[in-house]
Amino acid sequence: MGDIIAHDPRFNSLIIGHARLETLWTGSRWAEGPAYFPAGRYLVWSDIPNDRLMRFDETDGSVSVFRQPSGNANGNTTDRQGRLVTCEHLHRRVTRTEHDGSISMLADQFEGKRLNSPNDVVVKSDGSIWFTDPTYGIDSDYEGDAARSEIGASFLYRLSPDGDLSVVARDRVQPNGLAFSPDETTLYVVDTGASHRPGLPVTIHSYPVIDDGAALGRPRLLATCPKGYFDGMRCDVHGNIWTSAGQAVFCYAADGVHLGTIEIGEIVANLCFGGIKRNRLYVCAQTSLYGLFLNTRGAA
Ligand code: MG
Repeated sequence: MGDIIAHDPRFNSLIIGHARLETLWTGSRWAEGPAYFPAGRYLVWSDIPNDRLMRFDETDGSVSVFRQPSGNANGNTTDRQGRLVTCEHLHRRVTRTEHDGSISMLADQFEGKRLNSPNDVVVKSDGSIWFTDPTYGIDSDYEGDAARSEIGASFLYRLSPDGDLSVVARDRVQPNGLAFSPDETTLYVVDTGASHRPGLPVTIHSYPVIDDGAALGRPRLLATCPKGYFDGMRCDVHGNIWTSAGQAVFCYAADGVHLGTIEIGEIVANLCFGGIKRNRLYVCAQTSLYGLFLNTRGAA
């Protein structure tokens, strides 16, 4: 655990040679969905089967339960006003936690049918909220309540600042992690459809963002996972893509070259940048939360 391997010389400028992977906390069943709050210097993440959101206080390293029950929360992010936006498997919805602590429901159905189980979410600079809706939260009772899909497919959605929900991609089997490039001209989307269709490659596709940021063009294959699954992703300021990949974190350049690997030692679900300089990579992997300082910063 903790081995850092460069596959391309460009990776050496992104890491700190003597920085080590730190285990910050252990005790979850399936850690997911980290989101960092700079104003409070804390990280919120999900422990999906244990139905709770956790909180890591960066000032003293302490960990506490942020919210329980959490509706089997999965992906989390912060919006432009610093509010928590959450995907909930159990209630099959996306919510926002307001500054006063109340929870607002943002989306739970499309064309009169319940969503499957929103998985991961990003907020664009125009305030629109983009999320994926695979079936993992309704496939069993472990991460939500088992149920059939009312929609019958797993789409990628965009919720406009006015609250209009539209499908922006129908061509993925199980869309999962997603991230915008720093200039927001590209959206990267993971497809983990292999979980339901064995033999299908686990992929990252890059979609051009078109129509004034309201739609997506034709995707291009960026990367295929050599072992295990991709899941959550984030971009750094240089446009590199940091993603979970089996029991490791992979870093890809925007041209799709695999720059480097950080071995974690258990299945990695998601990651995000934090710290007051946004140069600390937080990694959620099954039982534990990890941290690693990098020589790059997360895209704003
Ligand atoms: Mg996910």
